[in-house]
Amino acid sequence: MTTLVSRSPQRPDDIVVEAREATAQEVGSAVGGARAAQHEWARLPATSRAGILASAAERLAAAAGELTELGIREVGKPRSEMSGEVARGVAILRYYAQQTLDPDGTTLPSADGRSLLLAVRRPHGVAGIITPWNFPVAIPLWKVAPALAYGNAVVWKPAPQALATALLLAKVLAADLPEGLLSVVPGDAVAGGALVDASDAISFTGSLDVGRAVVAAAAARPVAVQAEMGGQNASIVFADADVARAAAAIATAAMGYAGQKCTATSRVVVVGNPDQFTDALVAAVGALAVGDPADAGVAVGPVIDDAARRAVLDATDEVRDAGGRILSGGRAAGREGYYVLPTLVDRVAAGARVLEEEVFGPIAAVVAARDADDAVRIANGVRHGLAAAVFTSDLDTALDVSSRLDAGLVKVNAPTSGVDFYAPFGGTKASSYGAREQGKAARDFYTWSQTVTIAPSRR
Ligand code: NAD
Repeated sequence: MTTLVSRSPQRPDDIVVEAREATAQEVGSAVGGARAAQHEWARLPATSRAGILASAAERLAAAAGELTELGIREVGKPRSEMSGEVARGVAILRYYAQQTLDPDGTTLPSADGRSLLLAVRRPHGVAGIITPWNFPVAIPLWKVAPALAYGNAVVWKPAPQALATALLLAKVLAADLPEGLLSVVPGDAVAGGALVDASDAISFTGSLDVGRAVVAAAAARPVAVQAEMGGQNASIVFADADVARAAAAIATAAMGYAGQKCTATSRVVVVGNPDQFTDALVAAVGALAVGDPADAGVAVGPVIDDAARRAVLDATDEVRDAGGRILSGGRAAGREGYYVLPTLVDRVAAGARVLEEEVFGPIAAVVAARDADDAVRIANGVRHGLAAAVFTSDLDTALDVSSRLDAGLVKVNAPTSGVDFYAPFGGTKASSYGAREQGKAARDFYTWSQTVTIAPSRR
């Protein structure tokens, strides 16, 4: 029996919740219960599903304060970001409540001119949802809400580091839903693997290695699968950019929430002489308040656990040992909790982890590029392809460079992190597999297309 323990990263002695990992058999029973509930749910008129989701949105809005406090405590997300995330969750539920009333298919001209030819979207059945800890409310909701809206049941396996937040969120949602339609299975790899083996469709967000295993297992069955995975995101700064504005945006994108966003900036590619911009970036990073995420105004809290802190410090040591410069931070903060000071490095040797892989902490490298072509080559020179940003005041540069970036999300004069909840979200290359998430794109994943021909009964 495995016991899951979720601790507050700012006060590791504070155990937020302890729970037993669900066995494969228990996951199978949850899926069975969900399947039983799904038949009725899918038969409800769309207006009824819309009403239930709208009511869940209002219940979530009423619980926003409690959920925000719990999220801050459990994953160390700074207050303004956590309350913004819960508000986004409410907006996502309201949005998908309305999306139930969107067209659920298309009609086509029939070959005989008399029959009705339709392509109708149908729910898969039970959607297995596997989520990371870093967005403990928004990511689950941008999967659960469309899954339910389009007639599926859900079994959700949240990350163990965010289990208490998940249990509270599920309790708030379940108050409006039929019994068994949404259930949570606590666990990690065992429960996650069992869910992949039992569900009718799988939506995963998390790290690249786990995502690849999930995709392979789902494809072997085969069932519908989508996976959103890590990033190694570049922000490119041209000499004509507004230096102060670009530095502030990149500092926030790289270090906000201690760099623990899949869309965080990890490489700052400066075209031309990087000295002036590097100075501005060091100042902007230094202006970010590091501290208890519960305190208003704090932008950088702790990383999630000791292994995460070790990963940032190891990546810094690798740079230092190879003769690179540590421009800021580079060490743990001398306080209780898993804090690392925001760390900027430059003159980094090729092949260093900070240039190639996702470290997932408050660390970013400044890299010099000769020209636009060189900047694009550097930005695209990793296996990931999630987000990228271009800072310039020249429209032609913005248009040209953004069209050449291997990234699912491109921002011009804005941070790599963050995207509107109704816009398609996802990456390219190894960052993403399958259909896009969010907005109207979610219907493509949570339903399949059935082509129906209805011919007249008499000739
Ligand atoms: P993780 O891959 O360790 O875990 C993600 C989820 O998978 C958790 O629920 C975990 O319990 C589960 N899991 C672990 N092993 C499994 C297995 N063998 N089979 C099935 N499920 C399994 O990721 P994490 O540490 O929770 O989150 C951080 C990662 O998530 C980062 O790499 C980050 O970039 C990524 N992420 C990506 C996006 C995106 O949309 N692209 C968004 C947020 C986070």
